[in-house]
Amino acid sequence: MTSHRYMQGGLPVPYVIAWSAETHRTPTVVLHRTGQGIGYADEVPYDRDMDGVLWIRQAIAPGSGRALFPTVHALRQRRAISRMLCQVCGADTLEQDQERWLFVLKDVGQPVGEGELTSAAPVCPPCALIAVKHCPHLRKHVAAWVERPLSWGVAGIPYDPRTLLPVPGDDLAMVAYDDPAIRWLVATRQVLSLEGCTAVDLSGLNATAGAR
Ligand SMILES: [Zn+2]
Repeated sequence: MTSHRYMQGGLPVPYVIAWSAETHRTPTVVLHRTGQGIGYADEVPYDRDMDGVLWIRQAIAPGSGRALFPTVHALRQRRAISRMLCQVCGADTLEQDQERWLFVLKDVGQPVGEGELTSAAPVCPPCALIAVKHCPHLRKHVAAWVERPLSWGVAGIPYDPRTLLPVPGDDLAMVAYDDPAIRWLVATRQVLSLEGCTAVDLSGLNATAGAR
């Protein structure tokens, strides 16, 4: 795909970052007609992904207003993960290397582990170097080549089956596709399980190629 590159304050704005004009809309949440889960009162097919998961409604207007670093746009994040697009430039990483993908995650004191769950989309090597230079939350990071980034589930806002109101709390809940709890969630991120991980030191990465 071709992607527009937006700049703000002299810095590139990553593809997945939300803009101030991309507001959330909160439709009325109702019990799904099956009685198993929630839906929107005025739900349309576009509100669910191919797995039937209900997604948050968010305007799509990249480049409009201010870039809201580090807020991620829910639907561009989903698109980046499901199509393996670079989260920085939006390019198709499959065109660069069909056998492994580069992931850069915030350093939480250990390397990227087998089966690690993440809502981070892959990055192409040149963009990885840009990201760790400019993104404050990636100044301390871990990186890995990943052979099998598997679709695992979603993260989102859980709803109480009795009240049909969001469960209080700040954290997004991560739920696997095979967990019935996914029907009581409004998804805001798609989540991958990273398998076949090989740690990589980005300082040794060739920014112009896949650096195999
Ligand atoms: Zn890129």
